[in-house]
Amino acid sequence: VEKVRKLTTEYLERVLTNSRPYSAQGKVADYIPELSKANPQALGITIATCDGQVIAVGECDTKFTLQSISKVISLIRALEDCGEEAVFQKVGMEPTGDPFNSIIRLEALNHHKPLNPMINAGAIAVASMIKGKNVEERFQGILSLLKTMTGNPKLTMNEEVYQSEKKTGDRNRSLAYFMKSTGIIETDVEEALDLYFRFNSINVQCSDLAKIGCFFANQGKLSNKQEELVSADHIGIAKTIMLTSGMYNASGEFAIHVGFPAKSGVSGGILASVPGQMGIGVIGPAIDEKGNSVAGVHVLKTLSKDLFLNMFRT
Ligand code: GLN
Repeated sequence: VEKVRKLTTEYLERVLTNSRPYSAQGKVADYIPELSKANPQALGITIATCDGQVIAVGECDTKFTLQSISKVISLIRALEDCGEEAVFQKVGMEPTGDPFNSIIRLEALNHHKPLNPMINAGAIAVASMIKGKNVEERFQGILSLLKTMTGNPKLTMNEEVYQSEKKTGDRNRSLAYFMKSTGIIETDVEEALDLYFRFNSINVQCSDLAKIGCFFANQGKLSNKQEELVSADHIGIAKTIMLTSGMYNASGEFAIHVGFPAKSGVSGGILASVPGQMGIGVIGPAIDEKGNSVAGVHVLKTLSKDLFLNMFRT
C-alpha cells in the first residue's frame, strides 16, 4: 500500500519540480499579443485548504487573465440572477467533444442551444442573461462576486487584454449573432459580447483561484465564516459542469485521471476544487492543442494520486 503523502511546502515543491519539464510539450496562446508575452516555463501552485492553510510554490505571483475560467463565475452569477430553470432553457448541460470555440453543433443540435456553459457559445449565452441596467453594472456584479469568493478586494480588469479580445473576437461574434438569430440570445448581442470579453480579461493570480476553489469546496461559504453567500445548489451545479466540461474536450480523460472539478483557461490557469477539502490554483502558460496547461494538468494528476483526492477512487 502506498504511503499517504502529507501536504507540505516541501512536498508541493517536489510536485512543481517534477511537473516543470511538461511545459515543453505545450505552447503559449498567441491569438492576441498580450497572451503571447507570458513565460512558457512559468509554473506556480497555490493550495488553500478548508481548514485555513495556504501553501504556495513556484511562480505563484504571476498575474494572468481568467479567460475561460470566468465561465464558471458567470454561470453562477446567472443562476443567482435568473434561477436554474431559466438558465438551462438557453444552454444545455451536456459535454461536447468539440473545441471550445466550435460553431458546428449550434445549428445541428438541441434546438440550437449551446451544449453547455463552459464552451464559448454557452458562456456568451449565459452572459446575455446576467441582470443589470447596463454592461458596467453587470460587469461590476461579476467582479464583486469574485471579490467575495477570493477575499481579494483589489481585482481589476486587464485593459490591454480586453481591447485585444474585442478586436480579435470574430469567432465569438459569429457565435453570438447566430444565437441571436435563433432566439437563444434575447438581449443586446454586442452587450453580451462586451461582458464576455470583460469577464475573460479579469486579472488574477494562483491564490485567487485557490480561494475560489475553496469557496466551492465549502459549498458557497468562506472557510472562516459559516454564512452561505452563494446558494449551495448553484455551486453544486457549477462543480458538476466543471467535472463534465471544465477541461474542454479533454474533460473525460481529466475526470478519470484527476477526478475532481476543475476549469481551465487559455492563459494557462486552472481552478480546481476538492469537495470538503481544498481549492487549488495553478498557472502554467504553455497549453496543449485543446487549451489546457500541460504542466498544470500534470500537477493536478500528481496531487490527485499522491493525496488520494480522486472523488471516485476514495
Ligand atoms: N478569450 C478566448 C476566447 O473567447 C479564450 C477563452 C478560453 O480560455 N478558451 O476565444
